[in-house]
Formats: sequence, C-alpha cells, structure tokens
Amino acid sequence: MFIGHFAVGLGLKRMAPEVSLGTLFLGAQFLDLLWPTLLLTGTERVELAPDAKGPPLHFTHYPVSHSLLMVMVWAGLLGGAYYGVRRRLRGALVLAAAVLSHWVLDLIVHHPDLPLAPGTGHRVGFGLWESLPISLSIELGLFAVGFWVYCRATAAADRVGAVGLWVLMVFLVLIQIGNAFGDPPPSVAAVAWVGQAQWLLVLWAYWVDLHRRACLPKLSEPASA
Ligand SMILES: [Zn+2]
Repeated sequence: MFIGHFAVGLGLKRMAPEVSLGTLFLGAQFLDLLWPTLLLTGTERVELAPDAKGPPLHFTHYPVSHSLLMVMVWAGLLGGAYYGVRRRLRGALVLAAAVLSHWVLDLIVHHPDLPLAPGTGHRVGFGLWESLPISLSIELGLFAVGFWVYCRATAAADRVGAVGLWVLMVFLVLIQIGNAFGDPPPSVAAVAWVGQAQWLLVLWAYWVDLHRRACLPKLSEPASA
C-alpha cells in the first residue's frame, strides 16, 4: 500500500489541526520510511518477485519495521517524542494512531507476510493485492476521502498553499499509478533508494502545510480564544 497511507495522514488533519501535514505523513508512512534504511543495512530483507500480485516483491524478513509488536513500539515512541517536544496530548495520540494505521492498512492488502512479533513464525495478511482493481480502488478511494477532508480542514494562505498542495497530490497519484502499472524494479538497492526518496514527500508536506491555515476553530481553539 502506498497512497492509502498518505490518505490517512491527510484525513487526520481534521482530528489534530495543530499537527503539520508533514508530521502526519511521517507518522502514517513511518514504517515504510524506516524500512529502506533497514534494507540498506541488511537488517531486513526483501526479494524481487516480478510475477507476484501487488508489488513485485516478496517481503521475506521485516520484523523491525513491520511486526505488530514493533509497530506499537514505534507508535509509542513517535507519539511520545511529539508530546515531549510539543506538550500536546491530542496531537501525540493522533500521531501514534497514524503509525498504527499503517500496519492495519498493510494487513488488508498484504499477502500473509506481516509478522506479529520479531522471532515469531506466524504471519498475517488478508491478501487483497490478489486483485489489482480492488486494491487500487481502495487506495484511491481512501486518498480521495483524505484529500477532501484535508481541503475542508485547511485553507490555502497563499499560492504555495494552493498550488503546492495540488502538485503534491497529483505527484502522489502518479507514483501510485507507476507502482501499479510500471516495470518491476531492477534491484533491491533500487527499491531501497526509491523508498528513501519518500522523505522528500514528507518535507514537501511540511512546506505546503506552512502555507495553509486550519479552518476548524471549534476543534482547534478553546471558545474563549
Ligand atoms: Zn508498509
């Protein structure tokens, strides 16, 4: 799953308008932002599988980034770090929920390759990747809802806030289409480096969010403010 995770980041802006979209993207996509580094350091492994349904990969070993137990740890760490810096409980809880959502969404589409905990053999996944039309519809549907929610929760403060957001959204859709219909990657290293490039999407979201303002005063501010 790719764009479905970004959809969650967009949608959660409504729940915590004080949290930047960049931070929400970081949370919702954290496992897949961590994974490339773990691949490059040899901590986790993936195999190329050009004939596989869904991404042309076999996720053979990724207990640190994608086991349920470790995802809970990452959620606690990210939420805790946010609370430590910003002292905002709602934002911290929303960020932790964003991290957890990644595993839940992966569970829906992945083949049974998601471990419950490091060192355990039992792996889960509902396997919706078996059907490209269904999995793609779910991802794009989620994205449409997330984008709509974000657009209602914020308003562009200037041109960057308007145009920058649209360009980012179109770019995300193009990546999703490329993932679904493009050529398989030439090597695991290529997979990892393309994965690392997702950090730029997080930075892009921070930049766009700086140029938009929350427009839900009832949710974001006390009545006396
Ligand atoms: Zn993932």
